[in-house]
Amino acid sequence: MTKLCPIGTKGYRKIIAIEPASGSVPLRVLLLGGTSEASEIARRLADDDGLRVLSSLAGRVNQPRIPAGPVRIGGFGGVDGLTAFLKEGKIRAVIDATHPFASRISANAETACKQLGVPLIAFARAPWAKHEADHWHAVPDTERAAAYIAKTASRVFLAIGRQQLDAFASCNNAWFLIRAIDPPDVSLPANTKLLLERGPFLLEDELGLLRDHAIDCVVSKNSGGPATYAKIEAARLLRIPVVMVDRPPRKHTVATVDSINGVLSNLSRLQFQLGAIQEPCAP
Ligand code: NAP
Repeated sequence: MTKLCPIGTKGYRKIIAIEPASGSVPLRVLLLGGTSEASEIARRLADDDGLRVLSSLAGRVNQPRIPAGPVRIGGFGGVDGLTAFLKEGKIRAVIDATHPFASRISANAETACKQLGVPLIAFARAPWAKHEADHWHAVPDTERAAAYIAKTASRVFLAIGRQQLDAFASCNNAWFLIRAIDPPDVSLPANTKLLLERGPFLLEDELGLLRDHAIDCVVSKNSGGPATYAKIEAARLLRIPVVMVDRPPRKHTVATVDSINGVLSNLSRLQFQLGAIQEPCAP
């Protein structure tokens, strides 16, 4: 027996879902994560009986925030490993909700999905837009950010995570306040204070941090999203320049969505196409 139940979301067309008849197989979905949006997607899909969503984390941080539902941790072993994983796990859809600077896993996901004909829903949060009161110096990568710092700044708040900090290792003329979730395992510049903290960060705290350390330059990736934006606002209010590392070249060749609702709506459409949901109703 099937049972009709409304699963409409505000702002979207109301659709009627057919709960899977007992014995029917839920749609197996791999959710590539490592972002707050991926955790939110996992949370919102955890109770959907028509889906089996497996979250995947790279395992970069020592104590990751574990999303709702089943989770696996660690790399797949490149495209071949991911392709084998999708096949063996009978995965019928992939959601790529990784960080905008995580380009390898996104490229691998696209290739693996193309090879197997598995649909890919690609999420990319919007980058931060420059406000007219911002003083940004845009650079294409962390190496160029380090070259700029070597020439200019003296007291730098370096908030780019811990993976590419070694680009700044030879910037010995500057003093650095470095913030990361876990201790970096790469060479650091000589004059460094390390702050181990995890976002989200509040504007008031970021203002205090910049003032207390007499920071005169912030280095940031253009990650987008609200969790780490307060340092950009604080820099604006204190008239501190920001060396803004632009995103790597477009991660996906497939169309991307920039909202969680967009991901969920695409997934509902996919469930419908794959036969798990009845045709959408008229609004
Ligand atoms: P990356 O360069 O694109 O990925 C490097 C390798 O890590 C991939 O080839 C893959 O290994 C593995 N990997 C990455 N994400 C994975 C996932 N969700 N599940 C399983 N394996 C994954 O990525 P990255 O810049 O190192 O970032 C690693 C993770 O941290 C990403 O998931 C990302 O969402 C998160 N993150 C990154 C940043 C950033 O600034 N880069 C910031 C916040 C969070 P195999 O090839 O062996 O499969």
